Amino acid sequence: MSEDLILNEIESNREGYVKFLQRLIQINTYNPPGNEMDLAVEIEKYLKEGNINCEIFDIGNNRANLIARLNDNFSGKNLLYNGHMDTVPPGNEEEWKHPPLSGFIKRNKIMFGRGTTDMKAGLAAMIVALKILKTLGVNLSGNLILNAVPDEETGGKKGTKWSLEEKLKDIKCDFAIVGEPTGLDPLPRAIIVGEKGIVQVKIITYGISCHSSVSFMGKNAIYIMSDIIQNLDKIEIPAVKPPISESELLKLLSSTFPSEEIFNKIYSEQEVLQNVVKALQTSTKSMNMIKGGIKENVVPDKCEAVIDFRLLPGQKSEMVIDALKKLISSLGYTIKESTDSTSEKADVELDIFLIADPSYWSNWRESQEIKDFINVVNQIYEKKSFYFLHPATADAQYYRNTGYCEKTIMFGPGSAATAHSVNESAEIQDYINAIKVYALFAYRFLK
Ligand SMILES: [Zn+2]
Repeated sequence: MSEDLILNEIESNREGYVKFLQRLIQINTYNPPGNEMDLAVEIEKYLKEGNINCEIFDIGNNRANLIARLNDNFSGKNLLYNGHMDTVPPGNEEEWKHPPLSGFIKRNKIMFGRGTTDMKAGLAAMIVALKILKTLGVNLSGNLILNAVPDEETGGKKGTKWSLEEKLKDIKCDFAIVGEPTGLDPLPRAIIVGEKGIVQVKIITYGISCHSSVSFMGKNAIYIMSDIIQNLDKIEIPAVKPPISESELLKLLSSTFPSEEIFNKIYSEQEVLQNVVKALQTSTKSMNMIKGGIKENVVPDKCEAVIDFRLLPGQKSEMVIDALKKLISSLGYTIKESTDSTSEKADVELDIFLIADPSYWSNWRESQEIKDFINVVNQIYEKKSFYFLHPATADAQYYRNTGYCEKTIMFGPGSAATAHSVNESAEIQDYINAIKVYALFAYRFLK
């Protein structure tokens, strides 16, 4: 009975929920710089209308974390919903069909704007779900906690990590959902149980500058970099078994199709999906930026390059850094890390500026909670969804890797393919479905 009440409430107030999402899109939270405080204030206003206990934590520079909760009792089961408030910048606005802060709605079906998919639709759906449970006054023994965070697009240290360490760590968490977009067109919804990790390192080589007419007097920093690049494939990062084998990944994917034959046919035409599956079987590396030299006739004394490593669950960021150091030393160069305070000079300096370890919920196959969750998704979307892994990194790693809540999944409206792109958009029905999923699952989980 109460379930119908929740679903009817959502259907009858659709317009209002769409308007709320549109307002969130219209607030600029391009990161950098973020300015998530402006969005937090809007969310607080909306939640306070429903008498929901909501706190904003000012972290300076017009940035903030927000925590709201259904009730004040944390002694029962606690369910945590996490969504980030920042978006990536829009890029060249001229290329957008509708301005990125417009929240323009086309034929009542699709909303356009920066952050529609990644991930203001997911965040708004979580906020609305919380408000519905509160205003309907459904009797629940557990608690639903909402954490709206800044800084996800630049690593999450001031967002999810801050909230966890400063505010949430003493509250037991039984299940967590990060509302990132998990649509993988043309497939149905995915439920993500693990993500790859990332390590980004700036390599700086140092030489000795001189006039290039007497080039042998100097030491060419570009040549040192070139030596490293040419030997990069010799790097020895310890291999691990992928958390989900290729054959199991394909089985998970094909389970959503009427037959394996149909799946195989579609899969053979989906190059992007094939490459995602491939990326989930191995670590990768790619050198993506390089800069060196100041003039045509000067031997360069400095060259910089940025390399990006992606790790499988089971691999650790230290493994990559150690392997990189070992490779560079084996070529005969001295190394120091940029955090090293010694004034001693080295041929190569490493600036490790971004680290997010991979993370994985290893026992998801045995979990009843995740089965309950997928049942809700299948019911609302009227399609079979599936479990999968994410080839990029996400805030879920903070919950799993700190041991705070291994039972963390990623699920949200929107298609991963339109995230960060020009003309980013989200389907209205998808957003409404997500509200239903978040509200209904919370109800079943906490009652
Ligand atoms: Zn995101």
